[in-house]
Amino acid sequence: MERKIEIEEDFNPQERVDSFAALEPEFWKHKKLEEMSQDEWEALCDGCGKCCLNKLEIKNRVYFTNAHCRFLDCQSCLCKIYPHRFEVVPDCRNIDLASVREHPRWLPKTCAYLLLDNGYDLPAWHPLKTKNADSVHQAKMSLKGRQLVNETKVKDYEDYIVDWQDL
Ligand code: SF4
Ligand code: SF4
Repeated sequence: MERKIEIEEDFNPQERVDSFAALEPEFWKHKKLEEMSQDEWEALCDGCGKCCLNKLEIKNRVYFTNAHCRFLDCQSCLCKIYPHRFEVVPDCRNIDLASVREHPRWLPKTCAYLLLDNGYDLPAWHPLKTKNADSVHQAKMSLKGRQLVNETKVKDYEDYIVDWQDL
């Protein structure tokens, strides 16, 4: 029997950001990615949604498209099925240390994991700095408000390749 997938409708991004107050202040400045706790690791995600765009790999080069996973909510830039995503979407990638280091081009340039692993600080608009879940949207660093297409409408991904500066 097919399992019913519950969509998380009551998830509040600001509650998540408020919970960062329990973390060590500016932990990302003196810990390497491999030294972070699970809570610290999760807090690094800025909620931009850009890793949920479909990508193409052509001759060892990765191209982002503006075709988003069918389970991305384009308003909040959150996954509608987060707890079940790997069951439902077999090619949904877990963002762990191995994926950050082995497939860095599958993440956008602004991704916090990539920035920190390459010796940069978090950007000023990151919710860990602003304490505001919306700051990633206000800085126009998320997918919110962009011209996107649902992957279910796509026939040929090559027609949807984009060259956005922050990818
Ligand atoms: S690209 Fe990085 S920071 Fe943005 S949603 Fe994905 S994992 Fe989080
Ligand atoms: S299933 Fe994976 S790729 Fe799709 S929206 Fe959720 S996290 Fe993103």
